[in-house]
Amino acid sequence: MSKALRLSEKWFHRGLWVVALVFAGFLIGLGGTIVGDLPKVEQRATVEDFMDRSAVARARQTVKDATRARLDAQQALPQAQLKLKIAQADSQSARETFNNWLATRRATERPEQDAELIERTTRLDALKAAERTALAAVEAQQQAALDASQTASRAESQLRDMERDAQDALHKAQRAQELRVFLYRLALTLPLLAAAGWLFAKKRKGTYWPFVWGFIFFALFAFFVELVPYLPSYGGYVRYIVGIAITALVGRYAILALNRYLERQKLAESLPDAQRREELSYDVALARLAKGVCPGCERPVDLKDVKNDFCPHCGIGLHDHCGHCQARKSAFSRFCHACGTAANAATPADA
Ligand SMILES: [Zn+2]
Ligand SMILES: [Zn+2]
Repeated sequence: MSKALRLSEKWFHRGLWVVALVFAGFLIGLGGTIVGDLPKVEQRATVEDFMDRSAVARARQTVKDATRARLDAQQALPQAQLKLKIAQADSQSARETFNNWLATRRATERPEQDAELIERTTRLDALKAAERTALAAVEAQQQAALDASQTASRAESQLRDMERDAQDALHKAQRAQELRVFLYRLALTLPLLAAAGWLFAKKRKGTYWPFVWGFIFFALFAFFVELVPYLPSYGGYVRYIVGIAITALVGRYAILALNRYLERQKLAESLPDAQRREELSYDVALARLAKGVCPGCERPVDLKDVKNDFCPHCGIGLHDHCGHCQARKSAFSRFCHACGTAANAATPADA
């Protein structure tokens, strides 16, 4: 993965990155298909699974029966009330008739009417009794409605209690299930991640780098998209701690890489000019010059200044003169731009 400057090479590189991405995409698709085809290790539980089914059915039946009984009683109540009203009216009018008759009888004082008095009193008593019976029927319906609604509310609160207990059990089971799913996924993802880490460390610059990077993308996708969301939270503790651990690992790698780079750079800057020039790849040197930095130490240098023949920071030669025509040229170019003589044909007399 050197910094390519040739146009075709640049485009080949871009194409190979596309190959890496496409390769990663197909790997991700294949992984998803495999996971999808695996036997489902877990099934979704519901609240009902954690309730005593027969007890629930009994309680629900009780609620249903009581509700129907209450409705029946409420429908029967107006009928009973109407009958009571009629019985009260009958009794009332009979009493008035009787009182009138009694007044007449007192006035006439006829003893042969005693039998009729007894008969009328009996009839009046019967009407009074009918009135009481009708009242009792009304009270019975009211009582039935009250009983039914109390039974229903008792059964409902029993159901609610059962549901609350089941909800707790369900939450516990779901947490355990989340953990199991996470561990399954971890068992699948961890080897991928380890392989990706090894490939990154050893093979990322090899000939087959697009496939290596494709695999690394695939492993990262598996880790961050298919594993991290299933990380059990435990109130955020696990996520934050894992985040801190990953950041620490990445940070440590970056710090060590920076230190290694600085050490390498320091060592390179202490070498003689010719040797440094040999160790620098031609394309890297040109890319750095194009960015206006010294190819040796990567610090900014003013290349347009015609007096600037050496890097003021590390001392590497930036410009020299052609051995053939003495034209001032970049010390990194392979041929003289003025006469075409190969640069190494001339001994760097003024380097
Ligand atoms: Zn320099
Ligand atoms: Zn020349």
